[in-house]
Amino acid sequence: MAKRDYYEVLGVDRSASADDIKRAYKKMAIKYHPDRNPGDKEAEAKFKEAAEAYDILRDPDKRERYNQFGPDAFNADGSYGGQGMDMNDIFSMFGDLFGGRGFSGFGDFGGFGDFGGGRQKERVYKGQDQRLKVELNLKEIVNGTTKKFRVKKHVQCSHCHGTGSKDGRLETCPTCHGSGTVIRQQQSFLGMMRTQSPCPTCHGEGKIIKNKCEQCSGEGIVMGEEIVEVNFPAGMVEGMVLNVPGKGGAGKHAGVNGDLQIIIVEKKDDQLIREENNLIYNLVISVPQAILGAQVEVPTVDGNTTITIQPGTQPGTVMRLRGKGIPEVQGMYKGQRGDEIIKINVYVPETLNREEKELVQKMQECENFSPTDSIKEKICRKFKSYFN
Ligand SMILES: [Zn+2]
Ligand SMILES: [Zn+2]
Repeated sequence: MAKRDYYEVLGVDRSASADDIKRAYKKMAIKYHPDRNPGDKEAEAKFKEAAEAYDILRDPDKRERYNQFGPDAFNADGSYGGQGMDMNDIFSMFGDLFGGRGFSGFGDFGGFGDFGGGRQKERVYKGQDQRLKVELNLKEIVNGTTKKFRVKKHVQCSHCHGTGSKDGRLETCPTCHGSGTVIRQQQSFLGMMRTQSPCPTCHGEGKIIKNKCEQCSGEGIVMGEEIVEVNFPAGMVEGMVLNVPGKGGAGKHAGVNGDLQIIIVEKKDDQLIREENNLIYNLVISVPQAILGAQVEVPTVDGNTTITIQPGTQPGTVMRLRGKGIPEVQGMYKGQRGDEIIKINVYVPETLNREEKELVQKMQECENFSPTDSIKEKICRKFKSYFN
């Protein structure tokens, strides 16, 4: 695409003054800004073209070179690589002019003289958040628990009571006269602009410390520790983060404390496997127990309990102990416990002596030990229903 003449793009004479060029560009930028022309590719192209033209013509050296050699002068030295400026370049160029605020909100263009409007709130330092990993066993998860931790963190300096001042004296900041903010006025091509930012001398506090506390170098905080007691509600889940407000590090200059964030790690149980709020127990019984039925003891999170194995129990049978699972930690079902699910396996001996072998061969001779087609079908149907 052949480049248009930059003067033509901005609609100015070759003899236009720097101010004329600025004014012309301002007009174009407002007219074709993408915020005002959403989805309009032509406007976007014009917006870019104007930015490129302005970027050359505002610089006396580049303008001089352009006057002599035309737009090709800038392809040759690679400054635009022949493909124009990208949007980010353009927006960052604007951002610089608008005190680093970028370009959003260009829509209310009229309000620019008045950036940062009302009074800024007094700035208070917030302490660091502390993170802690805590392992809970199944019993603690089911019943909830309370634990104490020694947390190493910033604490308030006892010497200066967190003020950072040796003698407790603070003075009004001479830079911002106590307001905590400074206002810069800047002449830009869009007119006079005011920007408000935190005062660099007092970092927005409005006060400065005359004599710094030697214990904390004027920070008001020192490394220390606190014993923190944390209550874990029943039903915690691996990876959950429990936030304990105000138990993190102390803030500088008697500011506010950060939070303590506790990341939950589940200690795996030897026997019970967690599946959401249910617990799975794999029970192994003997062949005679499966055939004759039995009373067997199984573990639960509340202690052992005895269950009845019915005569003729098939391997893979599932039993459910209602309410022996994990309580729901939150929401409308809070406190409601899941189940313990018992999966029954039947142990088949792997080696036999002669006598045992004879016994099993006798079993084989009994017709009743071989499933008929209708029995196979019945069993398959039963297992299907577990998973539907
Ligand atoms: Zn101190
Ligand atoms: Zn200040």
